[in-house]
Amino acid sequence: MPNLRSLVAELGEAKVKLDLADRVLHRYDAITEGKIPLAVVYPETTLEVARVVRFAREAGLPLFVRGGASGLSGGAVPTEEGIVLATNRMTRLSIDPGRRVAVAQVGVVTAWVSERARPFGLYYPPDPASYRMSTIGGNLAENAGGPQCFKKGVTGDYVMGATVVDADGHVHELLGREAHDVLGLLVGSEGTLAVFTEATLRLEPLPKHTRTLAAFFESVEAAAAAAFEAIRRGAVPAKLEFLDQGCIRAVEAAFGYGLDTEAGAMLLVDTDGDDRELVEEELALVADAFAAHGARIQRARDAREAERLWQARRAVSPALGRIKPYKLNEDIAVPRSRLVEVVHRIRDLGEAFGFPLVQFGHIGDGNLHPNILYGPGDDRGKVHELAHAIARVALEAGGVITGEHGVGLLKRAFLVEAVEAGTLEAFRALKRAFDPGGLFNPGKLLP
Ligand SMILES: Cc1cc2nc3c(=O)[nH]c(=O)nc-3n(C[C@H](O)[C@H](O)[C@H](O)COP(=O)(O)OP(=O)(O)OC[C@H]3O[C@@H](n4cnc5c(N)ncnc54)[C@H](O)[C@@H]3O)c2cc1C
Repeated sequence: MPNLRSLVAELGEAKVKLDLADRVLHRYDAITEGKIPLAVVYPETTLEVARVVRFAREAGLPLFVRGGASGLSGGAVPTEEGIVLATNRMTRLSIDPGRRVAVAQVGVVTAWVSERARPFGLYYPPDPASYRMSTIGGNLAENAGGPQCFKKGVTGDYVMGATVVDADGHVHELLGREAHDVLGLLVGSEGTLAVFTEATLRLEPLPKHTRTLAAFFESVEAAAAAAFEAIRRGAVPAKLEFLDQGCIRAVEAAFGYGLDTEAGAMLLVDTDGDDRELVEEELALVADAFAAHGARIQRARDAREAERLWQARRAVSPALGRIKPYKLNEDIAVPRSRLVEVVHRIRDLGEAFGFPLVQFGHIGDGNLHPNILYGPGDDRGKVHELAHAIARVALEAGGVITGEHGVGLLKRAFLVEAVEAGTLEAFRALKRAFDPGGLFNPGKLLP
């Protein structure tokens, strides 16, 4: 048994937790339960992270890095008895308005960056719906996106540099593209190659004007066709979200935002920019394209009404919890042109498997989140079978098995069908090169 007490002696009791309550609390992410870790460590600095990595390596214990634990693919949960490295105390954050950057330790909660940047007229565009729970480290590891990804891109588009600790416990300052784009490689590597400890993030000026509309459609077909039509006509909405009837009804039943529960689908759109007229024009262009597909349009009259509509969107996940206590939040991306067919096939699969299933997503990117709802008495094996069937639908439609939530534990087995055998072997060689001892997040990502 490794001498965890020596780590306590070195870092102090406040930073190394060995009691059962702390350990049990760190076996979960948002939907998955893993093994109870032997210890939970809360480093505060890069050097302390390096120390923990070296300790784990010498003790032969695997290391599971954990940020906000809002992950939806089991990325942060321990698969074996090992050490959880929790970044929640790495919360130093500074804004440099001159350079338009934020320098954040990785435990900084995503929403804090924009909150701290706002007084300088700046913001941080990547906006996962979990932005009040997720951390910058988790966002980097998953290359998280959000409703703004269609216009603004994802986390990787905003990282200018990062500090990482490798599997030997060495610290590296990656400042962008040096000899190799190692930073680009590490973004999205799901805690399997290195530990991020700090990042320099690009900020953007806050747009001066934003307009919002909600549109209710008779069917999914009409909503999807309307979204394509708006894009085809040249709109680049700042946000473009899709909710099916199941989501609309769940939100209404739980919270009552006044959405049209008879609608077959809903789109929620923001346009933004510095020129008020152009922002209005773009919203009008979107509204016209939607009207051509029979939409009933509700324009937000002011920022309060807009915020209420977006609150309704963010209420989808909590509302689903009132229908069934558990959900498996699937995450696929398909070419926009195949979206209608995919939504229907997935709805049919839900019915065939006998589970309530609702769908929403960032429709501009073809990113869809079919949510399988289930209870304690349901067969989890069957839930996973359904998730696998959904991943197959994505592949058959020319899409990918994850849009933004990652492969983690949940989709590891699906990767064999998604990636050529030779490519998978190259991924394994990459893992061996970065982490020959299999220290970081074993049992994740690669089958
Ligand atoms: C209600 C809800 C809505 C969501 N909406 C979105 C959305 O719109 N878009 C989206 O992309 N995701 C979304 N997610 C998923 C999740 O929030 C993101 O994947 C997020 O990036 C995870 O961040 P976290 O800090 O919670 O990471 P965790 O769950 O703690 O960890 C996730 C992975 O990152 C690794 N990791 C964490 N920190 C580090 C680090 N410092 N160095 C190396 N690896 C690290 C972990 O090992 C793990 O593999 C949503 C989740 C929920 C619950």
